[in-house]
Amino acid sequence: MAQPSISAATRLACVIGDPIRHSLSPTLHNAAFRHLGIDAVYVALQIRPADLRTGIAGLRSIGVMGFNVTVPHKERIVPLLDSVSAAAKATGAVNTVVNRNGKLHGENTDVIGFARALGEARVELQGARVLLMGAGGASRAVMAALAQGGARSVTIANRTPRRATTLAKQFCTRQFECSNARIDRLTATELESIDLVINATSVGLLGESYFELPFEAFKKSCVFYDLIPRVQTDFLTQAKRTRHRALDGLGMLLHQGAAAFEIWTGQTAPLTIMRTALRRAIRIH
Ligand code: NDP
Repeated sequence: MAQPSISAATRLACVIGDPIRHSLSPTLHNAAFRHLGIDAVYVALQIRPADLRTGIAGLRSIGVMGFNVTVPHKERIVPLLDSVSAAAKATGAVNTVVNRNGKLHGENTDVIGFARALGEARVELQGARVLLMGAGGASRAVMAALAQGGARSVTIANRTPRRATTLAKQFCTRQFECSNARIDRLTATELESIDLVINATSVGLLGESYFELPFEAFKKSCVFYDLIPRVQTDFLTQAKRTRHRALDGLGMLLHQGAAAFEIWTGQTAPLTIMRTALRRAIRIH
């Protein structure tokens, strides 16, 4: 169905962040609105950290339908909202906000987005031993999904080791062993035992080369997942070179967006349409 032209009744959704011009979310959501004939439009708004409080007040006052939140606001937005979900509490971060009669409710659909992307790719989390690179906001969502999915252990490697220690402590339970380590200190046996390696750092976002990961040392069945929604990061290229299965972050982007769309509209997200729009946009970028 064709999207109605913008009128006085058109509802507004958006993504806020700084920077924001690289965001693929407008492509994703406008394709879905258009396909389902929903009278709404999705735009990308740059809000600087110092302006976050007034920015949120503005969105509330104009009756925004809902919005996504990206770097660097995912954590700082939490106290500005009226309520947050269990997933947002567990991660301390919000990536989706829905406006319910003037009350702003925060969700974290990155958790379900990551879990669904891996599920769709048939990557088994139950009992998995994971090496997670990075300890930022996205890593917290990954940790929550791994814990929920029944992963057995996670070793976190981060440029700033203190953040990895904090993250490990936050999620560690008897069933879910969490530790932090430097990659160059991992033994051959430890590397060989890993089932899933995840890049949740921003290294590669701007085309940079990946740091010292001994790709050859991992067993052949080990899967490499890069959160960056690009098909050709150095991390993925190296994983493919060593004949490992390599998955890009498009699946997570798609599924976190689809979950947000369903929260805002109450309608089933048109996944195929959204996936096609994303793939097309990536090729154009
Ligand atoms: P944050 O800024 O919160 O964290 C960035 C992480 O990257 C930190 O662990 C940081 O380490 C590390 N890092 C940054 N630069 C370097 C470097 N030069 N060398 C080594 N480590 C570095 O970002 P997010 O956690 O929110 O996002 C991380 C990535 O995940 C981004 O690329 C983002 O695009 C992607 N993402 C993808 C999603 C998807 O749907 N596919 C959803 C959410 C995020 P340190 O702690 O030392 O600073």
